[in-house]
Amino acid sequence: MTAKPATGAAEPGGTGWEDGIGRLVAARKLLVALDFDGTLAPLVDNPEDSRPVPGARTALARLARVDRVQLALVSGRPAADLARLASPPDGTWLAGSHGAEQGRMSGAAAVLEPVELTAAQSRELDAIRAGLEDLAAAGPGAWIESKPLAAVFHTRPMADRAAASHLEEQAAGLGEALGGHVLAGKMVVEISILPAGKAAALTRLRHAAGADRLVFAGDDTTDELALDTIHPPDLGIKVGPGATTAELRLPDPLAVAAFLHALADALV
Ligand SMILES: [Mg+2]
Repeated sequence: MTAKPATGAAEPGGTGWEDGIGRLVAARKLLVALDFDGTLAPLVDNPEDSRPVPGARTALARLARVDRVQLALVSGRPAADLARLASPPDGTWLAGSHGAEQGRMSGAAAVLEPVELTAAQSRELDAIRAGLEDLAAAGPGAWIESKPLAAVFHTRPMADRAAASHLEEQAAGLGEALGGHVLAGKMVVEISILPAGKAAALTRLRHAAGADRLVFAGDDTTDELALDTIHPPDLGIKVGPGATTAELRLPDPLAVAAFLHALADALV
């Protein structure tokens, strides 16, 4: 018997995920929680162009039909955008804005729990947006995305990567100075007025589902905080390159779709 690689590289003739799936199918109730961008959908310059890869939607539909599975999408996206772009199956739970927004799919529509901001929180968010707009003006290609609970500084279109990372540092500093919660990802700095995180969202979803096992897949540094809390018999999946403590690594969203189909095969 040979020692298994620590981060789930495939063994010859295998996919590397057989052990993990074997544990998941033993669940009485299984939570399947997935990030969206970079996990079910390829990363794209314009967030509006993001769509699941071929095979991802059918895999989710198959899992949704299994009684002992609860599906959830856990994303930094606003929950309404997440529902519109991912169009997940009826009954899928939604954790948007890194878990600060909650909802579920009812048919093809998203039913979201309202989040009310206080006047002080609204002023704080306005100040964060204004500060980030000033920074974006200094970096050709940088732009600001407005979310219900956050402002996001994007530098992906910037050609000058050194200037981009300098601006990202300034954006994070500005967010902290204004009392926001800073989440730094790949070429994005998100500043939220509410504390949120995918690790806390997973804990909440697991309790709500009454799940005795969970699998979570994500690609970004913000997902790594959640992956770091996942241990066998649960399964954490890192998508794409980069340091991780996840048990399994999959190269891209197409591989995630293949994994989800294999999980559905094993569950029926
Ligand atoms: Mg992602």
